[in-house]
Amino acid sequence: MDVMLYGLLLIALALGWWLGRRERLRQLPAVPGSELSRDYFIGLNYLLNEQPDEAIETFVRALEVNSETVDTHIALGNLFRTRGESDKAVRVHQNLFARPALSAEQSRRVQLELARDFMAAGLLDRAERLLRELIEQNGPHTTDSRELLMGLYEREREWQRALATLSPSMLKNNPHLRRVAAHYCCELGSELMRQQEFAQARKQLKQANAYDPQCVRATLLMSQLELQSGSPRAALRILQRIPEQDPGMVPLMLPPLRDAYDLMEQPEALLNHLRQLLHKTPYASVALMIADRLSQTGHLSQATEELANQMRHHVSLKGVDHLIELYMQQSRGEERAHLLTLRHLTQQLLSGRPEHQCTECGFQSKQMFWQCPKCRHWGTVRPITGVEGE
Ligand SMILES: [Zn+2]
Repeated sequence: MDVMLYGLLLIALALGWWLGRRERLRQLPAVPGSELSRDYFIGLNYLLNEQPDEAIETFVRALEVNSETVDTHIALGNLFRTRGESDKAVRVHQNLFARPALSAEQSRRVQLELARDFMAAGLLDRAERLLRELIEQNGPHTTDSRELLMGLYEREREWQRALATLSPSMLKNNPHLRRVAAHYCCELGSELMRQQEFAQARKQLKQANAYDPQCVRATLLMSQLELQSGSPRAALRILQRIPEQDPGMVPLMLPPLRDAYDLMEQPEALLNHLRQLLHKTPYASVALMIADRLSQTGHLSQATEELANQMRHHVSLKGVDHLIELYMQQSRGEERAHLLTLRHLTQQLLSGRPEHQCTECGFQSKQMFWQCPKCRHWGTVRPITGVEGE
């Protein structure tokens, strides 16, 4: 740890010590503060000798716990936790928690912080016990405790229990929690789909949609469910919602859209649908799917013309790469060799390039994640748009 932090800690502790001492002198004027100050200077000595653990132990012991110093103790523990030193945070908060001088409210506050420390330290069962107690007491920290417990079950992928910790009023008042709850239902729904439990899965996905009508993931899963149960027409109807829910997520609806038209054996209708989509959401993936379909059915020059036209208006590396490939298919000899050189370059530029990015923390990946692996936010990873993406 750096010198600045220790300086701050020292000031906080000295202030706390002074406040504690003042309080004690006021209550018991006959008791001298010499014992406390001895501890204080021992602590200072440890600090100067760069023995931070010993210094903390001594300071915490020296610091009296009373109504004026509780905040200092809590803040000290929190500081350790935010710096990733959760074992020290536990030590400080546990020491505080054991003091009989705490009021019921102070004790609950410390209990909540201790639960946070245990979570940070990965001691989830201990955190769970503390949080459950706080929720049962139904005090002023119930909502915070419920949210923390929800996060704990989320880490354990216990979606049903995570949902059960949310009270109706929390869901009513907090749109963020409704979005998260929708993703929990989607997790349950996709697991049920894997087990071929379609009726139960449908129930979960409907619930997801009820929590968050803008949840693209629920719509996508619902369309997949219809495809799996052999109803491509219903799947198409559901997919129509996505451009309205969130146009930026259109690239994700392309595979089920293609599968639905393929099941109905309507290749022309697929092309028409894609062209309509391209008009409103000019993403490279849409243009590439059109070009692929056209070239696969022998309409190579039409595929090239449409893609070249699209690239003139909305250029993207992915599109240019595909266009070069289409030109290569129609060329020979030296011309083809030149195009091949170009293609190598675009392929190099594309290789390992991320296709999705988290709007919350900037995390990038080739793969799509519904929960960002870095910042743990739900629904914040999106297809990258612009020249380097869609
Ligand atoms: Zn993120």
